[in-house]
Amino acid sequence: MTYLKRAWAEISLDAIAHNYTAYKQAVGGDKEIMCVVKADCYGHCDRAIAPFLENELTVRKFAVSNIEEARRVRESGVTGEILILGYTPPEVAGELCRLNIIQAITELSYAAELCRFIPDGEKLSVHIAIDTGMTRIGLHGKDAQQTADEVIEISSLEKIAVKGMFTHLSVADSDDEGDITYTKAQIEKLMAVKAALLSKDVEIPCVHYLNSAGGIYHDGSGSDLARLGIILYGLMPNASLPLPFVPQPALTLKARVAQVKTIHKGEFVSYGRTFEASGDMELATVAIGYADGYPRALSGKGELLINGRRAKIVGRVCMDQLMCDVTGLEVKAGDVVTLIGADGNECITADEIAALCSTIGYEIVCGISKRVPRVILRNGVELDATV
Ligand SMILES: *Cc1c(COP(=O)(O)O)cnc(C)c1O
Repeated sequence: MTYLKRAWAEISLDAIAHNYTAYKQAVGGDKEIMCVVKADCYGHCDRAIAPFLENELTVRKFAVSNIEEARRVRESGVTGEILILGYTPPEVAGELCRLNIIQAITELSYAAELCRFIPDGEKLSVHIAIDTGMTRIGLHGKDAQQTADEVIEISSLEKIAVKGMFTHLSVADSDDEGDITYTKAQIEKLMAVKAALLSKDVEIPCVHYLNSAGGIYHDGSGSDLARLGIILYGLMPNASLPLPFVPQPALTLKARVAQVKTIHKGEFVSYGRTFEASGDMELATVAIGYADGYPRALSGKGELLINGRRAKIVGRVCMDQLMCDVTGLEVKAGDVVTLIGADGNECITADEIAALCSTIGYEIVCGISKRVPRVILRNGVELDATV
């Protein structure tokens, strides 16, 4: 498939397979993995990755954030379980049933509202969210008996089939002592709800609390599965906390040099005149900008790779272009630059960029815009491209 080689992202299925296998081994080979493919696989391309996970890595469980993502993953051919972790407007509950999607439940009144839109004779499968300290969605998990009673009430709704119950850990990626204690307390709260239900002879088939970080840094023995997100894509939950294996970033962001010019002392570069040349220099204009999701916050401080060497961004990042100092790097128009990824012995990670922008790697990869085609690689060979 042809695509425009202006700015593009290469997605390595080999890296995804490596990360999946290494993670599965690290959490214990028999722990089931639910692959989190929300936000277009964190900006990586769900319609290529989700079927790959199912067909080649035998993944049977997936999680997304909304019904549009669920629909797209189904349309990509996935037949396994798809859990929506976030909110679905009740009006489309009928479609959830039709597509065989599992919905997260935030509270009893939401479950009741969904029921109004479920056709007679059908049942919607759900996982009940328990809020144990994230304070985002879910039944309050403070009083286990009371929470168990609410779970039972939801289970008694005629059109609802409770297939699971889960919570989300808010600081599983921290090695701070207080945070570790907090995580343990979150897990204990969920386990207390499970125990309270068992004491009333209610057994929930699937109870889960692990995210990527939880599976690595915490006791997962009470979790029937691990919801693997960020590490699947080769990024770290916490860039300063090591993993027991080396993840391979699956995404490489590239663009072409549009023009190279020599500029002289006193010349200004880009909007706002924030950069003034102090002497002769070679300047390359690269065909990528913030409309592609390359952060404007990198103006004057980001770096990119050309011919295996680092070049500094000078002046402001524009909507569609940016300029960098390539003095001595022998660059010419048409050359390929790497903005995220490796070139020769050099490598720029999404986490390096994130640190410069005071954010996390998650936001950088999720932010790469739709304008950037995703080129899917398997064994180094191009399979497909989104255009
Ligand atoms: C996004 C998300 C995950 C995955 O988190 P990672 O840190 O990427 O592993 C797991 N569970 C829920 C509820 C989420 O929203």
